[in-house]
Amino acid sequence: MNVIIVGGGIGGLTLALFLQRARIACRVYDGAPQMLPLGVGINILPHASKAFAELGIDAALARVSVLTQEAVFFNRFGQRIYREPLGRYAGYEHPQFSVHRGELQRVLLDAVVERLGTDAIVTGCRCVAIEQDQSGAVAQFQNSVTGEPLPAQRADLVVGCDGLHSTVRKLLHPGDGPPLYSGVNMWRGVTVWPPILSGASMIRAGWLKTGKMVIYPIRDNVDGGGRQLVNWVAELETPRHALRDWNRPGNIDDFIGAFETWHFDWLDVPQLIRKAETILEFPMVDQDPLPWWSRGCVTLLGDAAHPMYPRGSNGAGQAILDARALAEALCSHPSPADALKSYEAERLPFTAEVVRMSRRNPPDAILREVFERTGDKPFARVEDVISEDELVALSEGYKRVAGLDRKSPGAARAEIPSQRS
Ligand SMILES: Cc1cc2nc3c(=O)[nH]c(=O)nc-3n(C[C@H](O)[C@H](O)[C@H](O)COP(=O)(O)OP(=O)(O)OC[C@H]3O[C@@H](n4cnc5c(N)ncnc54)[C@H](O)[C@@H]3O)c2cc1C
Repeated sequence: MNVIIVGGGIGGLTLALFLQRARIACRVYDGAPQMLPLGVGINILPHASKAFAELGIDAALARVSVLTQEAVFFNRFGQRIYREPLGRYAGYEHPQFSVHRGELQRVLLDAVVERLGTDAIVTGCRCVAIEQDQSGAVAQFQNSVTGEPLPAQRADLVVGCDGLHSTVRKLLHPGDGPPLYSGVNMWRGVTVWPPILSGASMIRAGWLKTGKMVIYPIRDNVDGGGRQLVNWVAELETPRHALRDWNRPGNIDDFIGAFETWHFDWLDVPQLIRKAETILEFPMVDQDPLPWWSRGCVTLLGDAAHPMYPRGSNGAGQAILDARALAEALCSHPSPADALKSYEAERLPFTAEVVRMSRRNPPDAILREVFERTGDKPFARVEDVISEDELVALSEGYKRVAGLDRKSPGAARAEIPSQRS
């Protein structure tokens, strides 16, 4: 069997590694002229870290990331609402990694080149069309700089791992509309900064109506003096937004006003923002779950299949789990079309629920509850606003849907913490 992977992002490169492990030939075609280390922070939750451990790339990832210890929630007055351990610190066998997306892609790319060879990745090739016949599929490519047609490529299978603006998704579902704007715009940046709280804390603070921040470190000791590279995301409800382009520069004046008063004893937020090395802007978008992903010998994976709001830190993780499931299905079904049906039956309903839950009640629903119950005022005692049991229930509800709890649908696949720290 031989597979064309359209898109060499997180999902496409992980799929190449799982296929190589299963001795299935593949080649990755990416539209970018060069594989540059783009993006800012991204999280890999324990279920996806387990998949990376199976591929033997967890140690390389650990060298360039932070092993996240805890989630901590605050209101916009800097008062702590809730804290819970994460990853290994919560008893999972595998850690939560917080990492620069570019570093994660580099780790995957190095492993692909080492195991499959340099020929396994072709850059500057934008997929524009796919035709199918009895013996497989033919993918048509264009040079992404000049627009010139490139030689068509034939394979038994084509997998669209081409992200949010997927061409393969549009070819399979021509009537599918553009990404749906959530009403929340995001500005993201990285700042070199001394460790905050535990030095491995994932902080969520405020609420979307008046301004919410997500802050976590993604690299230790970047200056030899113990400072970290800290990723931050400012999120604000506003009708103003542009089309999502991962590299669109953001303007600090468009959002700093919402955070000007956030001077806490544990962090000066406006300073963190002002000292940023980079600021990017993009809208929070997703798409309604698709009714199907596969036709004949063409399917979808990752953001191409199920773009979701980044509120549960799960976009990359679900792409990684798709990759493992697809490789396993191809090993256990001699017919590629049957394998794709089995892959879709396992992953489509599950990821559709994660998409819906990321709209409805992702982990930051804790912040919404406190915002609404206090009328956006400081509290004297958090237990007068919301009980510990309610906070735990909100957090566990998301884990259940995301596959991080023993009561998850498809619990055999779920990651379960062995003990609580
Ligand atoms: C440049 C970039 C920066 C990002 N930065 C962040 C970030 O900072 N934080 C975060 O949480 N998420 C970020 N993401 C998104 C994140 O990687 C995904 O949400 C998630 O990891 C799922 O991965 P994926 O492989 O499905 O999609 P992606 O990682 O988005 O990969 C899609 C790949 O497909 C390629 N591609 C697109 N169209 C075509 C085509 N027609 N033909 C061939 N190749 C094509 C793209 O060049 C890209 O390499 C970024 C994505 C990109 C592309």
